Amino acid sequence: MQTKMLINGELVEGTGEALDVLNPATGEVLEAVREASPEQIKAATRSSAEAFDAFARTPPAERAALLLQIADVIEAHSQELAELESLDVGKPWPSAHDDEMPLTIDVFRFFAGAARTMTGSATGEYVAGHTSMIRRDPVGPVAAIAPWNYPLMMASWKLAAPVATGCPLVLKPSELTPLSTLRLAELLQDVLPKGVLNVIHGRGPSVGDALINSPEMEAITITGSPATGMAAMRAASQQIRHVHLELGGKAPVIVFEDADLDAVVETIRYGSYFNAGQDCAQPCRIMVADGVYDQIVAAIQDQVDQIQIGAPKAKGTEMGPLVSASQRDRVAGFVNRARNAAEIVSGGAAGDGDGFFYKPTVIANVDNDAEVACNEIFGPVVTVSRFSDAEEALKIANSASYGLASSVWTRDVGRAMNMTSKLRYGFTWVNTHGVATPEMPWAAMKGSGTGSDMSVYALDAYTAIRHVMVAH
Ligand code: NAD
Repeated sequence: MQTKMLINGELVEGTGEALDVLNPATGEVLEAVREASPEQIKAATRSSAEAFDAFARTPPAERAALLLQIADVIEAHSQELAELESLDVGKPWPSAHDDEMPLTIDVFRFFAGAARTMTGSATGEYVAGHTSMIRRDPVGPVAAIAPWNYPLMMASWKLAAPVATGCPLVLKPSELTPLSTLRLAELLQDVLPKGVLNVIHGRGPSVGDALINSPEMEAITITGSPATGMAAMRAASQQIRHVHLELGGKAPVIVFEDADLDAVVETIRYGSYFNAGQDCAQPCRIMVADGVYDQIVAAIQDQVDQIQIGAPKAKGTEMGPLVSASQRDRVAGFVNRARNAAEIVSGGAAGDGDGFFYKPTVIANVDNDAEVACNEIFGPVVTVSRFSDAEEALKIANSASYGLASSVWTRDVGRAMNMTSKLRYGFTWVNTHGVATPEMPWAAMKGSGTGSDMSVYALDAYTAIRHVMVAH
């Protein structure tokens, strides 16, 4: 396995501490990968700072060509990259390939086009005898940090948009799941100009912190937990930096009496437990109108009890393990604390074997202010609670601290429009949940972050608006 980092165009072994990378399906060590030392972090940030002037001046067509080439390279190696991802995160095969790789690749193709759309919004004579123009220029070298749940897809979101705008970056994957990103770094070594992509390995406190506090990094982009988002905000406040944050979520699924209940239940079976529920948009907070509550709980229980858990390549596996023992224990902690006040109708226990398995779990009769209803569990757990009317549903959903994904289920178009206009979430689906496309923003509000990944709006995080005025 490729364990070297990419620093200033060279593949180098870390000279910091060696960190074990585990197979979550067995608990066994896959590799020991050494962290970047402080000198290596500096070398990476220096490299992207040195690459900035030339890369920022490349014509958009050149950057678009690079992004298309990256897409082709990933596509040509998609089997191998998905194998690494499945091994490292415990993702069921072939879902790691068939469900995730198309979007990972398409994001680069989308940003190849987006690179050529960057325009300022006005040119004209706003003061007599002067012509003004608005430019949108690359902001500077970017510190980019990715999480462990979709390591390669999140790395692709963090890589494609800065490259589209002309910003070099230093990318740090999660220390738990670095393998696919390190292999991608090797694959891109000869594709991207030296210094445009640096990839370093290591933990948050030892490597991530130094990266986001580096004086050479002029923007910070993070996908991760709210705690890491806060660390980024603190770092940004020390140097006045752009910050783009995609953090946690707790997606409400608001089900009215007139909804297609079969569709709701199918979405929960296949969406809520996808990636073992480790998904920031996971449909996890099921809020059901009183009249159909009992029917929905029974149908969800019936479906969820059929989900087959197992090793990624075992026949029939629908759901794999959680990423780590500590993540499994965290999930178990939430479920255990909920036992007295709610009803565990499915799961509620660890799975068999040495891997980090936890059974698909449904918690019913959950109070709307319960810990499990309000906090991100980030595992194979959904809660089901009741509401009486649209106003109450909105009040409950909008009082949440998170503001990422949400969905509304109803056949009444007027009610759907009313709900979508009032929900304070970065994205709201109607009669579906979880469908993503690079043209549309993966947008964050409230405690879920600032700005968006994907879509042309992702370019905002990596560009600065400038005014140029010419007197004549
Ligand atoms: P995490 O915050 O623990 O780690 C994310 C990354 O930040 C890792 O690379 C980690 O090493 C790094 N990091 C940790 N502390 C740091 C520090 N002080 N300074 C710099 N870097 C630091 O998150 P995670 O456990 O890897 O991922 C799960 C979280 O990510 C969940 O909350 C989930 O909702 C969120 N997430 C959000 C989205 C989105 O698009 N909004 C997508 C995927 C995951």
